[in-house]
Amino acid sequence: MSKLKVYNTLKREVEEFQPIDPPFVGLYVCGPTVYSEVHIGNVRTFVSFDLIYRYLLHQGYKVRYVRNITDVGHLLDDSDEDKISKKARLENIEPMEVVQRYTLDFHKVMDAFNALPPSIEPTATGHLIEQIELIESIIDTGFAYEANGSVYFDVEAYNRDNDYGKLSGRNTDDLISNTRDLDGQSDKRSPLDFALWKKAEPEHIMKWNSPWGLGFPGWHLECSVMSTKYLGPTFDIHGGGMDLKFPHHECEIAQAKAGYGKDPVKYWLHTNMLTFEGGKMSKSEGTGITPRELMTGEHPLLTQAYDPMTIRFFMLQAHYRSTLDFSNEALQAAEKGNKRLMQAMADLNDLPTSDSSSVDVADLRSRIVQAMDDDFNSPIAIAHMFEMVKWVNLIKDGKETITAADLKELQEFSSMFVHDVLGLKDERSASLDNNKVDGLMQMVLEIRNEAKTNRDFSTADSIRDKLAQLGFEIKDGKEGTTYTIK
Ligand code: AMP
Ligand code: ZN
Repeated sequence: MSKLKVYNTLKREVEEFQPIDPPFVGLYVCGPTVYSEVHIGNVRTFVSFDLIYRYLLHQGYKVRYVRNITDVGHLLDDSDEDKISKKARLENIEPMEVVQRYTLDFHKVMDAFNALPPSIEPTATGHLIEQIELIESIIDTGFAYEANGSVYFDVEAYNRDNDYGKLSGRNTDDLISNTRDLDGQSDKRSPLDFALWKKAEPEHIMKWNSPWGLGFPGWHLECSVMSTKYLGPTFDIHGGGMDLKFPHHECEIAQAKAGYGKDPVKYWLHTNMLTFEGGKMSKSEGTGITPRELMTGEHPLLTQAYDPMTIRFFMLQAHYRSTLDFSNEALQAAEKGNKRLMQAMADLNDLPTSDSSSVDVADLRSRIVQAMDDDFNSPIAIAHMFEMVKWVNLIKDGKETITAADLKELQEFSSMFVHDVLGLKDERSASLDNNKVDGLMQMVLEIRNEAKTNRDFSTADSIRDKLAQLGFEIKDGKEGTTYTIK
């Protein structure tokens, strides 16, 4: 179908992409933990997978894209408290109010960044029965044990015949020597063991009945359960940010092998981090800028506001496996670049044609496809696309020529690539807000008043009639002329 190659973290090399059951592709991406607004680091990961999803669709694959919502089980570092429970406790609201607020907010953000919605967006709390069932089968196979109302995965037992650490390239000896013994972990046989089910202390808000008493599931479990339920025991692509390789994805592999008897994933894809001055962008460091802050410019690190398409363009100008450093200068350059691209896309509709072409549209197209086939190399593909931008200006100036047939191909291909694959849209028309409409109307009404003052009634009437056709009704009164939108 295509010559697509992808970098598989599991093999640490670029491989030809061969889906298990073409043309179907199962894609699972770890979604957000909905306890706060996402920051633009999170957004980068979701935009990267949106590009990957869009390109697979464009290749003709029938993709089932599952991206979960983590609404329970994600513990705060070094503590037994759930991130959502903590927020609910501090604000004195129901955990599900926290979940609802930030899920809605996340959807708005994804819409603003023009990210396509996944085919299925399952939640951890919606799959508790399946999680309990998986724990039971892992206990049955001898790779998990109950201790004092909690259930832990037995990494040492698993590691006898399996390779715990194969995804992240760690070995258990190093892991043990790097593990600190924390309070509350004394029930574990080994510090490497991770919780499948945690006993809820009386003050813990989010808890459910289980064969082991009141408790809640461990974070890693939900992704094993939901990916298997919707994509099968072995599916094509599992994605997430690099920081999830260990322990989250390593634990997912172990759980699936122990409970379902199969390696869950053929291709593991990991996105690199959005950084600030070289360090991972994160909320706790004060560098976790939210999309809202970017769009309003209200953050100490920002010198101006940026629209979501500028940010999307900025992100796509880096390969998803490279780090991308955030700075105002880089965003300003992206703003200019994106504007030039959008202007060229608009100008493409209005270019003079000739009997022959001096530009090679088919070659441009094949270079762009080649770049995308090379592990979704969007920066190279965008660099090629800027040849089109150059051509548009040269053709306008009569320094290059294009036939009508080539122009049609260039228009169709550019639109498909820029709008459908890169997911960039022209914000100039979309951002016509009420203030701008009002400003425009005042200007038109002034021109009409001038015409009336000059006794040019036919122009004044023609403006009124044309506005009426567009749905603007105008009324001349003592106070001046007003308008309403029908
Ligand atoms: P979380 O809500 O913390 O589970 O994160 C959601 C997704 O965002 C995960 O795939 C993380 O790997 C990813 N992520 C977190 N921080 C960054 C960052 N600075 N740059 C890129 N991706 C990130
Ligand atoms: Zn996950």
